[in-house]
Amino acid sequence: MNRLNIEQLYKDAHALLKGHFLLSSGNHSDTYLQSARVLENPKNAQILANALAEQIRIHDLKIDCICSPALGGIIAGYELARALNVRFIFTERVDGKMTLRRGFEIKENERVLVCEDIITTGGSALEAARCVEEQKGNVVAYAGLANRGFCQRVGMNNPKKPECKLPDNIPLFALEDFIFAMYDPKDCPLCQSGSVAIKPGSRGN
Ligand code: ZN
Repeated sequence: MNRLNIEQLYKDAHALLKGHFLLSSGNHSDTYLQSARVLENPKNAQILANALAEQIRIHDLKIDCICSPALGGIIAGYELARALNVRFIFTERVDGKMTLRRGFEIKENERVLVCEDIITTGGSALEAARCVEEQKGNVVAYAGLANRGFCQRVGMNNPKKPECKLPDNIPLFALEDFIFAMYDPKDCPLCQSGSVAIKPGSRGN
């Protein structure tokens, strides 16, 4: 199988955005990956999820269930669950707190993989993992279609950066590292030049 060119897939789908963005972590960046644009084509979602599933199978990791933090992780997680032939649940924020709702249940010691679309600092994924652990599920891996390079994914030697919130002892699977600058709003050069960060998804982004 030819190696998937993830960056090209994102570029072709106009999912690699340039501008001045406010990330969910509160930081600013000049680049944003809008996975929704890649995943609006179900064929792409399937191709990406199959490639991710293949990596997970190679590592012989037994998974019972995929859990994704809404909204960003849902399509990637659902397609990965299909590829691995396991069930899929999601967590969502209620008054800012990540919660497992809708009657979703996790059995004790069930082996759960937490899947995001993009792993930046891993903050939302970690909050979803906490929900799994509260139900006595066992988080055995994290996955994302792409990794922003703060966390270290399986098979890559880029060291983990201090911003990464994911634990060291649980593997992170991703298809590609997209490494862009990220700024604390206090030191953001784009803010200093007078522009205002926008939340991706608003104003037509
Ligand atoms: Zn800024």
